[in-house]
Amino acid sequence: MTEQYDVVIVGGGHNGLIAGTYLSKAGKRVLVVERAAMAGGLSQSDHVIPQAPDHMINTGTAELIHIRASPVMQELDLRSHGWKTVETDPMYAYLDPEGGSIAVFRDPRRTAEDIARFSKVDAKAYLEFVELIDGLMQFAGAMGKGDPGVRTARNYLDLAKVAIRNRALKDRLQLISTAPADQLAAEWFEHPATQALLLGIVAGAGPFDTDGNGIAYALFGLLHRVGVSKAVGGMRMFADVLLSAYAASGGQLMLNAEVEEIVIGDGAARGVRLKGDRMIEAGVVIATCDPITAARLATPGGLGRVTRTRLEYAPAHRANVGPSLINVASSKPFRLKRHQDLRTDGVDLNQAVGLIGSAEELRQALVQARRGQVPSAPVFSLSPMTNWDPTMAPQDQGVAYIYLPVFPVEVNDGWPRAKAPAADAIIARAADYYDGFDGELGRWFETCPDREARTSLTKGCVTHVDFGAQRTGAKRPAFGLGGPEPLAPGFFLGGAGIHPGGGVSGGPGRLVSKRVLDYLA
Ligand SMILES: Cc1cc2nc3c(=O)[nH]c(=O)nc-3n(C[C@H](O)[C@H](O)[C@H](O)COP(=O)(O)OP(=O)(O)OC[C@H]3O[C@@H](n4cnc5c(N)ncnc54)[C@H](O)[C@@H]3O)c2cc1C
Repeated sequence: MTEQYDVVIVGGGHNGLIAGTYLSKAGKRVLVVERAAMAGGLSQSDHVIPQAPDHMINTGTAELIHIRASPVMQELDLRSHGWKTVETDPMYAYLDPEGGSIAVFRDPRRTAEDIARFSKVDAKAYLEFVELIDGLMQFAGAMGKGDPGVRTARNYLDLAKVAIRNRALKDRLQLISTAPADQLAAEWFEHPATQALLLGIVAGAGPFDTDGNGIAYALFGLLHRVGVSKAVGGMRMFADVLLSAYAASGGQLMLNAEVEEIVIGDGAARGVRLKGDRMIEAGVVIATCDPITAARLATPGGLGRVTRTRLEYAPAHRANVGPSLINVASSKPFRLKRHQDLRTDGVDLNQAVGLIGSAEELRQALVQARRGQVPSAPVFSLSPMTNWDPTMAPQDQGVAYIYLPVFPVEVNDGWPRAKAPAADAIIARAADYYDGFDGELGRWFETCPDREARTSLTKGCVTHVDFGAQRTGAKRPAFGLGGPEPLAPGFFLGGAGIHPGGGVSGGPGRLVSKRVLDYLA
């Protein structure tokens, strides 16, 4: 059986659906094929804990940040498709082992006031840091306009204007793009609590001791500019909104449809072959799975040797460090213990994502994870989901989302042996900070290999390709492959493995849709 489309998109994650919506709106016949039973990819939620069938669990993303700043919101009018989120402020709170806390508010001055409770010097430095990051954001904004692989006179002009405006920051901006985030935290801030706050947040972008990943601090710029929201009802809301926008544009979706081959014949993309040998023909194929998977799926010999090799070498959790996730469902709500009691200024830390782990523990965890060891002192962020969205569990019950940014991908002992004790140690530490764990009904713990098995994502890498200054813009996923040209005629990448990268921004989906429209024109 053969069907024909203009464009077939491999993967119904958020970028696949967004690319599909732009292309259908432009009048193309589009089919998204998704191997799973639900669309959404790493941005989904479900009732995955058998002992707690009414607790909604985010199985990947929990925080909506990048998409709030993305033109996709307006261009696809996502709000009209049932978009429902709740904003949190404070957004994060570093929870010091001694009971103190530093909250991160939308307003950087309020954040600095919180830091001042630990160090006045750091409070002043934080405001300078935010100004510097704002300069970085201006550069990113100027470079991110249009296609990073196509530099126009207008781009150069914009960049020149930003460079002139920020000339006083020139040296420090260059440092950010070359230095490790850890070095910068240690250079700029004297107090371990401030360093822990910075590293605890930036750890989500990957190993913070890698040269060039200081640019991950751009996240602070986004936090202060646009803030954070959570999807009401879990990330299923987000997936449903995208599905609704896609369906309204006339796009077609096929679930439980695993692509076994991206067919490239006579030098150009011909379509995809699904498991079960069903063939779908299309002159354009967009792969929104990770680039290594895309290379594996391509017809042998269909890609040039250099292209294929560069895709295969795109790093995915190369340092053996990647995030694991534990969700705990409880018959009780999750509330902070002493940290809230010690706040006398009325700030509700239970509305924030709690950051647990000192700067030294974060550094030690990185060393241990690299060596294939479970960190002896677990470091994580804890999102008490039901504190801002009680609909995620039955009344007065709780869901805690525990994100472990610095965790081994593979462990020397093997996960079958290491997993249960690791979870027990993590939850025991979380229970030192939050009440509610004594009502545990069940837990859902996904390591990187578990994620790979569930989603077929190489090494379970959440950003598809590791984040870093050398893998941005036209250098993502690899040097020479991040421009508008297809990998082979008609064959494009369109997921988190291309610019602007991982996270929920819709940027890759939007970018590839423009590239494909140009190609078809
Ligand atoms: C635990 C975790 C926490 C995260 N937290 C955040 C956060 O708080 N904020 C944030 O912004 N980002 C977060 N992220 C990152 C973010 O979720 C991803 O970067 C983003 O969702 C990637 O979207 P995508 O559409 O590019 O790819 P994906 O979501 O990976 O979608 C790719 C799709 O392709 C499908 N597919 C793969 N192979 C095939 C095949 N052979 N045939 C058919 N379909 C196939 C997959 O099933 C999948 O649905 C998190 C990720 C994880 C895992």
